[in-house]
Amino acid sequence: MSQPDAVAETTQNDDAPLLSLENVDVHFEKDQGLLEFFEEPDVVRAVDGISFDIEENDVLALVGESGCGKSTLGKTTIGLQRPTGGTVRYRGQDIWAAKDGVGEVDIPFSEIRSSLQIIHQDPGSSLNPNQRIVDILAQPIKQTHPSAGRSERRERIYSLLERVGMNPAADFADRYPHQLSGGEQQRVALSRALLMNPDLILADEAISALDVSLRVEMMDLMLDLQSEFDTSFVFISHDLSNARYFAEHGDGRIGVMYLGELVEVGPAEQLIEDPGHPYTNVLRWATPDLALHAAGASDPPMRKIDIPDPVDPPSGCRFHTRCPEAREACRESCPALTGETDGHRTACFRTQPDHEYWDSPPLDD
Ligand code: SF4
Repeated sequence: MSQPDAVAETTQNDDAPLLSLENVDVHFEKDQGLLEFFEEPDVVRAVDGISFDIEENDVLALVGESGCGKSTLGKTTIGLQRPTGGTVRYRGQDIWAAKDGVGEVDIPFSEIRSSLQIIHQDPGSSLNPNQRIVDILAQPIKQTHPSAGRSERRERIYSLLERVGMNPAADFADRYPHQLSGGEQQRVALSRALLMNPDLILADEAISALDVSLRVEMMDLMLDLQSEFDTSFVFISHDLSNARYFAEHGDGRIGVMYLGELVEVGPAEQLIEDPGHPYTNVLRWATPDLALHAAGASDPPMRKIDIPDPVDPPSGCRFHTRCPEAREACRESCPALTGETDGHRTACFRTQPDHEYWDSPPLDD
């Protein structure tokens, strides 16, 4: 399929990663009730001290329990959420400096935003119910190809609808979103994102609302289009088996989040087969089609089920209140993500043979 040509010309740093996050925090003040009006607001540490790079044609699947901060991190990665600390760079350009017009801006914020697209869990809510599909899909073409006439736009739209499996395209193009199934709406949302000629698409729980039978089909479609359109994907899921499928078939990485922190990141197969972090092991246990569960481990490999409050996360390693391997050292200091820079990295003292953890007594609470 032909690629749309770029509209804007900018100065880009060719050596810089597509996206680079450095020590990113996103802290929110919690809404307060009337009785708490004069009290200091509670601060939710949704994302804390996260760094990683995303390259061209890269795939990163972020996984973790609900409320772990993965959606907030995804939105921060594509410039939809302003971080409260650290920097997010697109091709070397600080995204929020571009937004605020601070310093020398090589890439305008509007161009950065259109290069970083999102598809949501509920595509129905992001498609205008009063517009036909053809009109919804015409908008990104008008933006990226202002000189394209009506018939050229229609041709592009039909060709893409056929490519995403919506045949006959002319029939689907004239429908309204409510006349489509959830899977068809998601294909339209994906088409709309692709028509922006994006460098990266954030798929935020984009397959979670689909029938199980359609999930693999949708993931395969996204991965096929990823190579055709030369785009990268950040794929967010609470389900490790979906994250594994997407990352393995896209030759990408899985990033595991726990209470706002990235606790393990690595090539999909390596991370699943040989997890370094005890929390990754919990996710494996909770995923029925992975080996650990099949082996008959009936109890979760955790000391406590309850998830701590992100307003007041545990000291030291945030997983220490639930970790079956926790020792006193884990309560006192926080493990950094260590390992090969572009390979498998884990935030757990157990991966460091000389750490004082090994001489520290087990936790007794
Ligand atoms: Fe568990 Fe300690 Fe490793 Fe944290 S650092 S995951 S508490 S063993």
